[in-house]
Amino acid sequence: MTRQRKLGKARVDFERISAASQRSLGIPSHYEDETYWCVDCGKECLFSARRQKVWYEEKKRYYWQRPIRCDNCFRVRQQPRSAKFHMDRSLAALQDAQGDRELMRQCALQIVDYHRQTGRGNLPLAIHLLNAQDSEENEVLEALAYCRDKLRRS
Ligand SMILES: [Zn+2]
Repeated sequence: MTRQRKLGKARVDFERISAASQRSLGIPSHYEDETYWCVDCGKECLFSARRQKVWYEEKKRYYWQRPIRCDNCFRVRQQPRSAKFHMDRSLAALQDAQGDRELMRQCALQIVDYHRQTGRGNLPLAIHLLNAQDSEENEVLEALAYCRDKLRRS
């Protein structure tokens, strides 16, 4: 990472930052590029002046709030939440459409996906749904093998 890079700057538009930020002391006249270290992987990251302007003036984040993770680690942390969201939504849909094989298959694969990411999820239900597929499809067989393996170990 180059140290000679010119520091990026952007003017703080005081009228556009959040009310809480406006009340706080020490708001500078300009945003300046800042570096920080990701709390998960330790990578050095740039919090650019331009990005700060978006954070505080468009997203209205509190001025003293700073990013703590690199983009990659941030995404990785979001994934389980999104996997849970899809799983919960499909399971809710399945309540209203019991016996819908395509939906059962989707639910099972999402349960397995969620379990892969978090170690949680209803694997016996996934097995039940996968068995009902009566399918030789690779994706189904792999998911079944995964469930049985995890349940055997637990
Ligand atoms: Zn990271």
